[in-house]
Amino acid sequence: MGQSAEQLHEVSESFEFKAEVQQLLNILVHSLYTNREIFLRELISNASDALHRLQFEMLTNRDIVDPDAELAIRIDFDTEAGTLTVSDTGIGMTREELIENLGTIAHSGAMEFVKQLQEGDQSAAEIIGQFGVGFYSVFMVADEVTVTTRSFRPEAQAVMWTSRGENQYTIRLADKTSRGTVVELKLKEDAREFLDAFRIEQIVRRYSDFVPFPIYVRGKEANRRSAPWRQRPQDLTEEQYKEFYRQLTLDTADPLLYVHFSADAPVHIQSILYVPSKAERGLLTARSEHGPRLYSRKILIQERASDLLPAYLRFVEGVVDSDDIPLNISRETVQANQVMARIRSNLVRKLLSELKRLADEEPERYIQFWQEFGPFIKEGVAIDAAHHEMLVPLLRFRSSKTGGNEWISLARYKERMKKGQKAIYYVLGEDMNSIARSPHMDYFRAHDIEVLYLTEPIDSFLMMALQEYDGVPLRNIADASLDLPEVKKEETEEAETLSAEAFERLRKRFAEVLGERVVEVRESKILRDSPCRLVTPENTPGAGLQRVFRMLERDYEVPRMIMELNKAHPLIRDLGRLAMEAPDDPLIAQCAEQLYEGQLLAEGLHPDPADMVPRIEALMAAAAHARVNEASRTNDEGRGTGGES
Ligand code: ADP
Ligand code: MG
Repeated sequence: MGQSAEQLHEVSESFEFKAEVQQLLNILVHSLYTNREIFLRELISNASDALHRLQFEMLTNRDIVDPDAELAIRIDFDTEAGTLTVSDTGIGMTREELIENLGTIAHSGAMEFVKQLQEGDQSAAEIIGQFGVGFYSVFMVADEVTVTTRSFRPEAQAVMWTSRGENQYTIRLADKTSRGTVVELKLKEDAREFLDAFRIEQIVRRYSDFVPFPIYVRGKEANRRSAPWRQRPQDLTEEQYKEFYRQLTLDTADPLLYVHFSADAPVHIQSILYVPSKAERGLLTARSEHGPRLYSRKILIQERASDLLPAYLRFVEGVVDSDDIPLNISRETVQANQVMARIRSNLVRKLLSELKRLADEEPERYIQFWQEFGPFIKEGVAIDAAHHEMLVPLLRFRSSKTGGNEWISLARYKERMKKGQKAIYYVLGEDMNSIARSPHMDYFRAHDIEVLYLTEPIDSFLMMALQEYDGVPLRNIADASLDLPEVKKEETEEAETLSAEAFERLRKRFAEVLGERVVEVRESKILRDSPCRLVTPENTPGAGLQRVFRMLERDYEVPRMIMELNKAHPLIRDLGRLAMEAPDDPLIAQCAEQLYEGQLLAEGLHPDPADMVPRIEALMAAAAHARVNEASRTNDEGRGTGGES
C-alpha cells in the first residue's frame, strides 16, 4: 500500500529549534525594530550564494535539474495577501540540507549574536549576516515564513519548511518541480511598507547592487550587477569604490585605503583590495575566516581565499579575479595551485608598495593606518623574510624623543643619530610610562641619545628578525654586554661614591640573599639616577620574550638575570655603610629582595606583584620606627639642653 503524493503532502513533521536559535528568534520577533529592511539583503545574499554554488556545480556536474534556467533572483509581492516572495534558481536544498541549514544544527553564531545584542549593541542587528544566521532576520518582518525548495540533484524531492518564528518549524514534501528556492514571507501588519516596488528597488540598490545575477523586482531588473574590479579605475568614482566595499564587508565605516589593479603577466589578475579603517569591526569575533573573495571569470571560487594573502595581511578585504585559475578546480585544490602562489606574491607586492606610497605622500593617514595595523606589519617583518625590504620602511616607532606625539621611521632615527653613535638603541617594556622611568634609560637620558620604545608583545620577535637597519646594528639597552659610546669623565667624578671595600661587602651580601635567582650581582657602569637594574645575560632569551611567555602563561619561569648596582646612589651608599657597620642587619636582606622584585615588576616579569606587599609594609614599619626613635631622641636632647640653661 504505497502512499500517494497527496497523502505525503499531509505528512508534516515538527522539529524544535536549538535553544540558542529560539533565543535569537525571540529577540528578532519581539524587540528589534530598527533597520528591518536588511532582511531583504540577507535573503538576496543567500539566493546569490545558492546561484554561485550552482554555477560551480555546473562546471563539473552534468546531471542537473533545469540546466537552462536563467540564473536569477525574483522578488514579487501580493498586496492583498500581504505576502512577499524571494525566489532563486540556485542550488536548492534536499530535505536533510533544509533541516540542517535552517533548523537543527547548533549555531555558535546565534549565541555570539545574541550576546552582542544583549550587551545593548542594537547596531549588531545590521550585521547579522556576519554571524552566519542572516536568514532568521526575516522574523523581524514576518509572522510566518515558508521556504519551498528543490535541489539541483535529479533524485531529490521538493520540500517545504514553515515556521512562525516560535520554538518550532515543520517540514513536509512539496510540489515544486523547478530547481531552486522560494522564500515566502507573510508580512506582519506593521511591515506592509515592504509591499511596494519602489521601496524594494531602493533596498536592492542600496545593499545588493553588485550582486552579479539579475534581481527582478516584479519582472524589472533592479540591480546594476557590474563587477567593479573588471572595470577600469578611471571609470569608477570614489563613491562607487566605497559602496562596493560596504556591500562586500557590511562595514559601516569607509575603508582607509583601496588598491585597484590589473595585470596580465606573469598571471592575469583583476583585483580591488581594501584596508578597513579599523582593525576591530566586531567581525573578527564573529567569523574567523579571512582573505579576499576569489573569482575566476566572474564565477565565485572561494568566499574567503585565505591562502591568497599571508596571514599578517589578514585584515585586507576585497576581490581577486583571475582567468588563469582553472575553472574546474575544486575548492580543496585551490591552495595547492601554482597560479595561486604567483597571484599571492603579486598581491603582496602591490599592497606593500601602496602602503609605502601612503607613508610617503600622506604621512598623517599612514599613521592612522599604523595605529590600527602596526602589529600586523611587525608580524610581517618577523616572519616574511621574502618581503623584508618592503616591510621595514613601513615600521614606525615611539622613542625617548617623540613621547606620545610623533612616530618615527628607522630612517628618521638614523638621520638624527648623535655624532659617533654606532647603534640604534631600543628598550622593551610594558608601557610607555614604565619605560620612560626605566633604569636602563639613565645613561641615554643623561647623554640625550634617542632610544626606541617598544611596548607590544610582538616587538621582541620583530627585533629578532630586524638585527640591523641600513648597516647600523640595533641594540637592546638592557643587554648585559652593551657597548656604550664614550662617557665624558667629569660627569662621573662629581658623585660621591662608596669605598671599594664597602661596596664589595654589600655586593656579596646581595648575591647571598638572591642566590640562584640571579646570575650575578655586579657594579653598573651606566646607572645614574636609579639604584639598580636587571640586565639580560648574553645568549638567553631577553626580558621581552620572557614577558611574552608570562602573558601566554606558558610554563613561565622568572628568568635568571644579572643585577647591577649603582655605587653612587644614596640608597646603595647607605646600605654599603650598613654592611660595614652592622653586616647582619635584616634591613640589607629586605632591601635586596625588594630592589630585585621591584625591577622584576618594572620589567613586566614579576609573576605575582602582590607578594611584595608584606615586605613593603615591613620596610615602612622599620622606617617609621627609626624615624620615631630619632624624633624623640632629638626632642629629649632639646628638652635636656633647655633644662640646663
Ligand atoms: P549563511 O548565509 O551565513 O550561511 P543564513 O542564516 O543566511 O546563514 O543561511 C543558512 C543556510 O541556509 C545557508 O548557509 C544555506 O546553506 C541555506 N540557505 C539559505 N537560503 C538558501 C537559498 N535561497 N538556497 C539554498 N540554500 C539556502
Ligand atoms: Mg546568509
